Amino acid sequence: MSVASAAEQAFRSTHGTEPAGLWAAPGRVNLIGEHTDYNDGFVLPFAIPQQTVAAVAPFAGPGWTITSDLVNETVSFETTGPGEVQGWAGYVAGIVWALQDAGFDVPPARIALSSDVPLGSGLSSSAALESAVLTALTDLGGFDLPVAARPGLAQRAENVYVGAPTGIMDQSASIRCEQGKALFLDCRSLEVEQIPFDLAAEGLAILIINSNAPHQHVDGEYGARRKSCEEGARILGVPALRDVTPDELDEALAKIDDEVIRRRVRHIVTEDQRVLDTVDLLRAGRAREIGPLLTASHVSMRDDFEITVDQVDVAVEAALASGAYGARMTGGGFGGCVLALIDTDKAETTTAAIEMAYEQRGFTAPTIWPATPAQGARKL
Ligand code: ADP
Ligand code: MG
Repeated sequence: MSVASAAEQAFRSTHGTEPAGLWAAPGRVNLIGEHTDYNDGFVLPFAIPQQTVAAVAPFAGPGWTITSDLVNETVSFETTGPGEVQGWAGYVAGIVWALQDAGFDVPPARIALSSDVPLGSGLSSSAALESAVLTALTDLGGFDLPVAARPGLAQRAENVYVGAPTGIMDQSASIRCEQGKALFLDCRSLEVEQIPFDLAAEGLAILIINSNAPHQHVDGEYGARRKSCEEGARILGVPALRDVTPDELDEALAKIDDEVIRRRVRHIVTEDQRVLDTVDLLRAGRAREIGPLLTASHVSMRDDFEITVDQVDVAVEAALASGAYGARMTGGGFGGCVLALIDTDKAETTTAAIEMAYEQRGFTAPTIWPATPAQGARKL
């Protein structure tokens, strides 16, 4: 059954009536540009076919009643302040709160959610959930809320209401990505550009490898990386590390005594440049040639930013050994997913090579699938 049908059916069985409509928002992978978002830098995500669908109908109220097949739970809440609704429902309450806080009169609604975005794997199920609900409530309420303003509002729900300190990339990707394109996002100006990324036309595919590695210490490590980057920018006297160019890097590093901060700074500065180089190649229709940039990004995350684990390193090595043009961990790190750029006809051999490498190491089996750039949030 499709995710849309599942959401529709969940709505019927929970509420005994028909939904007024279905709204979908995808998960995403980041092609390149890791941990650059909170350094005012560049990212290049694309939407994946996995999505969250919200079946929604207005009702007399008061409040909102939501259900999700992924957690098999129904939660009701009325108007709330940040943090009042805990757990998964907080992401939805956060969207209601952020809309109200922006001055919108959010209609009471019933919402049934279904999703095939894996939770907590770095494919941004949280942004898919927020974006589907935001798009639905915005349409139902008839709000004049420009698309460009939506990611920031969804980010407030996650940062302020849920209390998760994430950048603007995930919500931007889930809301603004287009089919066959990657989204070039300047995290300072919030300007976006749709970059052609029609892999199939060039006989290419991106394999996504979910390492299925248990996430460990993610929140603490994420906070520590942010702090090191802020400290680096402070030492260098720039508003953010985005303001250091590769030409200035050696001089900048010489000003930093702390070896760890030096490495963190080097990752961010070189990673921003790799995003720009990737965009240039894609604009020129040279997708195959981005491979070395992807791999260099991985090496930088592994050695300088120190956010990889054995499972993702092994997946990258196995993909490259089986002929991938490039491969890298994608997402915040400490587990999560790897992506590999391959010729379409290599999908099976590369998949088998990675599965074998995992087996030899005694790792939990990975989940591997080819992804094509999909459409962002929309009414179905
Ligand atoms: P990621 O965004 O990488 O998947 P996060 O930790 O940011 O990981 O978000 C995962 C959390 O989002 C889940 O633990 C759950 O609380 C919530 N969530 C996301 N999608 C759904 C859904 N469809 N139903 C219920 N909760 C969801
Ligand atoms: Mg998330």
